[in-house]
Amino acid sequence: MPETIRIEPAEEQDRYSRLRLIPWWDQQRIRSARVLVIGAGALGNELLKNLALLGFLNIVIVDLDAIEVTNLSRAILFRPSDIGHSKAATAARAYRELLPEARVQPVQANIMRDCGLGLFAWADVILCGLDNREARLWTNRAAWKTNRPWIDGAIEGVNGVARVFLPGNPPCYECTLGKTDWEILDRRMSCNLLLHEPHPSGRVPTTPTISSIIAGIQVQEAVKLLHGMPVLAGKGYVFEGLQHTSYVVDYTENPDCLSHYTLEKVIHLQEQSSALTLGQLQYRAARELENEDVVLEFSRDVIDRLVCPKCGAQQEYFVPVGALPYSEGPCTHCGAMRIVHTLSGFRGQAELAVRTLDRLGLPLFDFVTARSPAGEITYCIAGDAPSVLGTLSEVRP
Ligand SMILES: [Zn+2]
Ligand SMILES: [Zn+2]
Repeated sequence: MPETIRIEPAEEQDRYSRLRLIPWWDQQRIRSARVLVIGAGALGNELLKNLALLGFLNIVIVDLDAIEVTNLSRAILFRPSDIGHSKAATAARAYRELLPEARVQPVQANIMRDCGLGLFAWADVILCGLDNREARLWTNRAAWKTNRPWIDGAIEGVNGVARVFLPGNPPCYECTLGKTDWEILDRRMSCNLLLHEPHPSGRVPTTPTISSIIAGIQVQEAVKLLHGMPVLAGKGYVFEGLQHTSYVVDYTENPDCLSHYTLEKVIHLQEQSSALTLGQLQYRAARELENEDVVLEFSRDVIDRLVCPKCGAQQEYFVPVGALPYSEGPCTHCGAMRIVHTLSGFRGQAELAVRTLDRLGLPLFDFVTARSPAGEITYCIAGDAPSVLGTLSEVRP
């Protein structure tokens, strides 16, 4: 909620007057909510269209891809002249055309590799229009860590499912994954952590009719959630378009699920990641935890170097795991497949202590967790927020 409640102008009172006729409706909650939309494809377009019509003013849109001609059959926000342009930026511009008062920040990025956990923590609710399990699994874990609700949508043919996952309240998305899902997930990454192939995005058969149905349910759930009403928590609304059958599935909690973890204590640092070294952060954590034995844990593993087992040649990388394709593996000198070295954190290595956080291959506005026998503490590198969120960084929780 914002610090001050603004009185809405008369025009706005008129604009939303039909919505206000709903007895429980609170336009102010909609106005002030911060929404992270991941994916600006078929579902993402419909999510954003609904959010704009309802009067949501604070929106971040994450998508890596550019618009292709195939998107035009399922994307209300894109025009033929937009082909080749960023989906996120184009969707943001279209959003502002529908709702000029809105602050919309496009982020052209891969959600798993390029977005800090600060972006998740910024949002009151996360809406996903994703087309692959890997990004959903990442989103699920990030949402749990940062204690944020997320609403998933999935479509294929004329069928679809919408579901709501609340942190701290299993079953979660990972709990719903079966053996086949894990096989598909495992196939993506080779055993040496280099990426086999980019995921075949946009190949799933979908229609604009099913994306509007499922995205409609997702946004409706978001509105209910923001009003504190009961939602499809840990459940899925399934719609089958051929027979117009719909039903709600109950998922079962997996007691061994790795997603069920929420970071307890998060401290927002005013520094930017370019102004903070690992050594400085470890020193600060040791003081705050009152314990010298501190390990800094990154939000994701990074590949720091590839080493040739045959000729010994080394090459430094510092990129997130998943960012290097399999074709990067062979040694440039002798052709042998190199060994991937990864870092999951900082234990005081001298060569890393002077490295600033922006030179690790981690995204801006990320979280770093400090662990010691005395407890744990998480730092959000909030000094990066303006670079990532633009004017939305002024919209405080
Ligand atoms: Zn779970
Ligand atoms: Zn070599």
